[in-house]
Amino acid sequence: MIDVKNLHLNRQMTFRETLAIIERGSVGMALLVDSEGRLSRTITDGDIRRELLAGADLDEAIARMGSQEPVTIGTDCSRRAALELMRSKSVNYVPLVNKAGEVTAIWDRAMIDDQVLLSTPHMGDSERDFVEQAFATNWIAPLGPNVDAFERELADKEGIAHAAALSSGTAAIHLALILLGVGRGDRVFCSSLTFAASANPIVYQGAEPVFIDADPGNWGMCAKSLERALEASKRQGILPKAVIVVNLYGQSSDMDPIMGLCQQYGVPVIEDAAESLGATYKRKASGTFGLMGIYSFNGNKIITTSGGGMLVSDDGDLITKARFLATQARDPAAHYQHSVIGYNYRMSNILAGVGRGQLTVLDDRVKARRQVFDRYQTSLQSVEQLNWMPEPDWSYSTRWLSVCTVDSRTKSRDDVIAALSDDLIEARPVWKPMHLQPVFASCPFYSIENEPVADRLFNDGICLPSGSNLQSEQIDRTVATLQKVFS
Ligand SMILES: *Cc1c(COP(=O)(O)O)cnc(C)c1O
Repeated sequence: MIDVKNLHLNRQMTFRETLAIIERGSVGMALLVDSEGRLSRTITDGDIRRELLAGADLDEAIARMGSQEPVTIGTDCSRRAALELMRSKSVNYVPLVNKAGEVTAIWDRAMIDDQVLLSTPHMGDSERDFVEQAFATNWIAPLGPNVDAFERELADKEGIAHAAALSSGTAAIHLALILLGVGRGDRVFCSSLTFAASANPIVYQGAEPVFIDADPGNWGMCAKSLERALEASKRQGILPKAVIVVNLYGQSSDMDPIMGLCQQYGVPVIEDAAESLGATYKRKASGTFGLMGIYSFNGNKIITTSGGGMLVSDDGDLITKARFLATQARDPAAHYQHSVIGYNYRMSNILAGVGRGQLTVLDDRVKARRQVFDRYQTSLQSVEQLNWMPEPDWSYSTRWLSVCTVDSRTKSRDDVIAALSDDLIEARPVWKPMHLQPVFASCPFYSIENEPVADRLFNDGICLPSGSNLQSEQIDRTVATLQKVFS
């Protein structure tokens, strides 16, 4: 930070002294102020050059210069507005002027042009080594030692017997449904409050999605709504072929009652743990409760291979079949024979190398994201209009995203997101529930509330910048903007 006082000039100072001040300040300008310290004009070396060419002497007082309206910004100016002004005026520095007309700071374009993003990839130290190994041994294929090792290492870490590395989390859900024989005319239950990738594979298989409301205590699938849907399905004589339980924003659903119900009705569970790798439910790894679980390594997830996914299960036959289907379903014959339809869903050996490196830092990434959440919650404790996503006693959430809801009687979530955006901070609404999506408009939806929990969370919820590589200063900036919004 520059001490603005060092840039101050008065009219009696000479051009030579002014040039020295501009030189020392390194922001390309000096500030001509009146006796009360209010800014009269800015002076750049270009202004001085023009005066000298017009006949001024270097040792003459700058008083001979005319007046000129300075380009300034107010102290309540947003970063976006300041940047727009600097771009339009082609300047890199602008004085920040308070209500009294005094300059309180100089804004530097390079410094304020810093976007705080929601969730970005965060590489560790060993990813390159594993990728190098793949190059060195020419294993540039959707198979190879990194793929095998990544599967084994992830399965060991999560405490599950088997894993298949795939091209995406969506592919993992799709294969899980195929393995359960889901097809035309079948129903599959799925959490409504989620990303569309949880539900799309149901439609790939020609089956009908049935959506289940969220639990206000953990935002995952609501067991009571699930019970209501299972009872109704039983009455109608078509029980679902599977239930896709989504663990939202890094937190497990309440698995005990959900598993209990699904066992009672004999329906297998697929756990969509795309967002909850590294989380636990009652100290057991999230994603390991259902018959199958899936993880995602998309670029915005807690660890990433740029794109990728994993299907996990304690049932080795299922995972063996998944690997077979994911590599074009080739029968064991040299002459390319196929008895069933296959898919090209395997993860490449190069990306698996990235995954192996990322897995070694998973615990650190979880801790860092939890710290981001704690910083927000602690710093914004006094802002009563914000409520933070709950974490029940049984949960250890990854806090993949830091999410809060805003009291809509005070401010709308869109107002808050817009204010953050004006300060170049990326925030997003909570997922739009599937039962509100145009593409799923005709699908059944079960809730135990008149106003579904998923609808309320969507209307009021805000996802804040949450990456494990966020700078402390960026968190402070986000906090400061939120405090300003609610002050
Ligand atoms: C990201 C995500 C997926 C999809 O994973 P991809 O690897 O991007 O295909 C599925 N479900 C949820 C809840 C997700 O957040």
